[in-house]
Amino acid sequence: MTNKTPARQDWDVAIVGGGLAGGVAAYTLARQGARVILFEKESGPHHKVCGEFISSEGHPLLTKMGLDLPSLGATSIKRFRLHGPHRSGEAELPAEALGLSREVLDEAILDRAQQAGAVIKRGVLVRGRVKGTPGLHLETTDGIVRAENLILATGKYEFQTVNKRAGRDSGLVGFKMHLRLKPSALKALGNHCDLFVFDGGYGGLAPIENGLVNLCFLLERSRLKGLKTDWGHLALHISRGNSALSHYLDEAEPQFSQFVTVARVPYGFIRRARPESGIYCVGDQMAVIPSLTGDGMTIALRTGLASASSILKGQSAVDYQRQVTSTLRTQIETAYLLHRLFKNPRLCDWAVFGLQKFPSVLDFFFSSTRCRVNAGFGAQKKLDSLMG
Ligand SMILES: Cc1cc2nc3c(=O)[nH]c(=O)nc-3n(C[C@H](O)[C@H](O)[C@H](O)COP(=O)(O)OP(=O)(O)OC[C@H]3O[C@@H](n4cnc5c(N)ncnc54)[C@H](O)[C@@H]3O)c2cc1C
Repeated sequence: MTNKTPARQDWDVAIVGGGLAGGVAAYTLARQGARVILFEKESGPHHKVCGEFISSEGHPLLTKMGLDLPSLGATSIKRFRLHGPHRSGEAELPAEALGLSREVLDEAILDRAQQAGAVIKRGVLVRGRVKGTPGLHLETTDGIVRAENLILATGKYEFQTVNKRAGRDSGLVGFKMHLRLKPSALKALGNHCDLFVFDGGYGGLAPIENGLVNLCFLLERSRLKGLKTDWGHLALHISRGNSALSHYLDEAEPQFSQFVTVARVPYGFIRRARPESGIYCVGDQMAVIPSLTGDGMTIALRTGLASASSILKGQSAVDYQRQVTSTLRTQIETAYLLHRLFKNPRLCDWAVFGLQKFPSVLDFFFSSTRCRVNAGFGAQKKLDSLMG
């Protein structure tokens, strides 16, 4: 990917952050002829804390952008298992999901955005907005740029121009590791995504590309006191809390020298403060759904697309935000209730029992914690037509 910028420093849209939300917004706007510049502070592919489970509501959007997910190595996920500390249950997913590392996926999206005509500036940090100047001027490590509109897609990183996010539960630390499981454990995982609940947190295992598996989990910050956070100690700690997990992790080979981590994820956050004119917040800067739903990436894609559509239509940031908030509110509330349940291992064992007896409850939770493709954000089919 080259870093060539045209001489002009005036842009229709400047995007801060080259994750899913920023990438899809850049692609959509550039395809429609807007002059777009995207800044990503990392200079190359990088790992992010994420379960890397792409829900059935999310991957059709990626395909629509022209990404061939199977050829990138995406693995099919058709079923899921829920393991309380003492009980396990299994069910079919309502539709096929995919597993693919963010290192590969985010890069592929940025490539598509660049092919569509967006200027992608890698290794450039946006420090903030230049105060006291008319319009939107941004100070970057590469100089100052002016844009008509700003899309804020900085994910977990707060940005001085908008209010800090406050979630309803920010006391968890997220950990991610890629693993090579022993053959019998890989076979047992098969095309499942397994969720595990243990004292002080929960997590999941999902197959990704090249025969690898993603292990991603959350632990209460208070439980980390006195605990070493290297692979050996943490794997032992979470395995002790859930015997099903210990079977998988036995002899597993970690692929990174240390865990990728994130702290203070503001679960349950939805941005409500009135946005300034021309500033559109997307992805995790707009809303943070509890991770157990595996729908954060879809929300990032949807809000990235919706922000691009709003800018193209001349819709204000206030109207964009109102529409997104009303679409996501119930989904995030329901997911938050489930998140509370998952944090109580004993209740979770009962939930596994209940789900086996009444599988239709599961359908309700699937449908109400997912960002539905044909609902909300205005005329969704019209939105999709902007992409491909
Ligand atoms: C523990 C955990 C597990 C999860 N599991 C799943 C899952 O299985 N499935 C799922 O769908 N979702 C999952 N999610 C949620 C998902 O990872 C996020 O919702 C998604 O990554 C949000 O995308 P984004 O584009 O908003 O931000 P990001 O993908 O985080 O991208 C933000 C980008 O902005 C860049 N950036 C930040 N600040 C600046 C700056 N000032 N200048 C330039 N660049 C900047 C960063 O380097 C980064 O690349 C999980 C989240 C957590 C915490």
